[in-house]
Parts: sequence; C-alpha cells; structure tokens
Amino acid sequence: MKVDIISIFPDYFAPLDLSLIGKARTTGTLDLSVHDLRTWTYDVHRTVDDSPYGGGPGMVMRPEPWGEALDAVVTPGSTLVIPSPVGKPFTQADAYELAALPHLVFACGRYEGIDQRVIDDAAARMPVREVSLGDYVLFGGEVAVIVIMEAITRLLPGVLGNADSLTEESHAAGLLEAPVYTKPASWRDRDVPEVLRSGDHGRIARWRRTESLLRTAARRPDLFAAYPPENLDKKDRKA
Ligand code: SAM
Repeated sequence: MKVDIISIFPDYFAPLDLSLIGKARTTGTLDLSVHDLRTWTYDVHRTVDDSPYGGGPGMVMRPEPWGEALDAVVTPGSTLVIPSPVGKPFTQADAYELAALPHLVFACGRYEGIDQRVIDDAAARMPVREVSLGDYVLFGGEVAVIVIMEAITRLLPGVLGNADSLTEESHAAGLLEAPVYTKPASWRDRDVPEVLRSGDHGRIARWRRTESLLRTAARRPDLFAAYPPENLDKKDRKA
C-alpha cells in the first residue's frame, strides 16, 4: 500500500518509523511518505493560513498550497482522507475498507481547518473521505492520521505475526473482546478464571463468547443493539 501524508508538522510522524509500522515500511508492505505543506508556499514566511471570510476567531488554511500539494502527490488510484471533526466517525469497518485501497493521501488540517474549496475541488477528481476520530476537537489532523495508520497497517497482509488476532478481537464481529489474562495464575490474591486454565477448548470458547456478549451489552449497548439476533445461539441467549 502507498500512503502520502501532507502536514505542516512532518516531524509529528516520527512514531511511524517504530514497531510494526516501521517494520512494514522496511519490508515494503507499506510505502509511506510525509510531505511538508510549506513546500508549496512561495512567500518569505511560507504562509499557509489566513483570516476567515465572514469573520470569526482563528485562521483557515489557504487553498493554494493544498491545491498544489494534492496535484503533486495524487495519482489516478488515490483516495483522499481528511481527518475532521465534521467527518464520519472512523470505525474498524472503515479501517478494512481503507486497508484494501492502493493509495491513500492524508491531508492534515490545522487552525480552523482547510478552505472548503480544497475538499470540493478534490471530490470532483477523486474519492474523498472526511473521517472523525470522535466527538471532540484536536489541535490538528496529525494524531488522527497516526491513529488511522495504526488501524490500517495491522490489517495489511503479513504485518501481524498471527492473523487470527484480527478475527478474535474487539470490533471484528461487532462485539468487544472478553478479558485476557497471562501468567502468573495468581497475583495479589486475584486468580485467573479456572476455565482458562482447564485446557478444555470448548469450555474456554464458550466462556469467552459469554464474557464478550456480557461486556458488550454492559459497556456498549449501541453495539449490542446492532448485533444481528440471528448470530445469537441458544446458549448466548441464556447468558
Ligand atoms: N474548526 C473546526 C471545527 O470546529 O470543526 C476544528 C478545527 S481543528 C482545531 C483543526 C484540525 O484538527 C481539523 O482540521 C482536523 O484536521 C483535526 N481534527 C480536530 N478534531 C478532529 C477529530 N475529532 N477527528 C479528526 N480530526 C480532527
């Protein structure tokens, strides 16, 4: 997968050299480049913002540098992803969709955001997705892009050591994962549930399934309500 990130703070993306994303870049699974938006400015102050038409607080990112930056990095198969609090809430399903695309271009907004004409102009030429990380406001899109890149990269073939991790985790099938434990079996007078030490794979699977359903119902009633009833078996219903 090819990824281009455009930002006025390219240094923000140093973490993308680390851990499994760094490894994916080294092995060639992920071809990621970060671009400084100010490359496409021509004044002595390398200005990327100006005051908003109509008045109001803050500054807005000017369209010219964004237009040139996108012209430089976009190719026929590109999808533009714009993190924004007015975007569609980002989910695991979105992560799967984005992970299947050949080329993503991320545009990191700052200040009061990017001049709307940049988004409209891009949308006339390529698929554009405005995505929100949640109902709160960040300083800029950089952290959002790092989050989205983490969610996407772990879905790319070969990145995770055990691909089963992807099918047995929260949000894989619309439920939250059951609690997890490791050694020692007893710690501060708290014991790992007996069933997980039993070696009985059938009982363990049933326990995990039940805990997953109970946890989802208690913590995320919205997810639980959306879970297809036909996916519940008799034992699920009893739980
Ligand atoms: N004035 C904008 C508004 O009220 O909708 C907020 C701009 S915010 C201070 C600057 C940038 O941070 C945005 O352009 C976007 O790139 C990013 N950002 C802020 N909150 C975000 C969120 N919840 N999800 C994704 N990106 C966000």
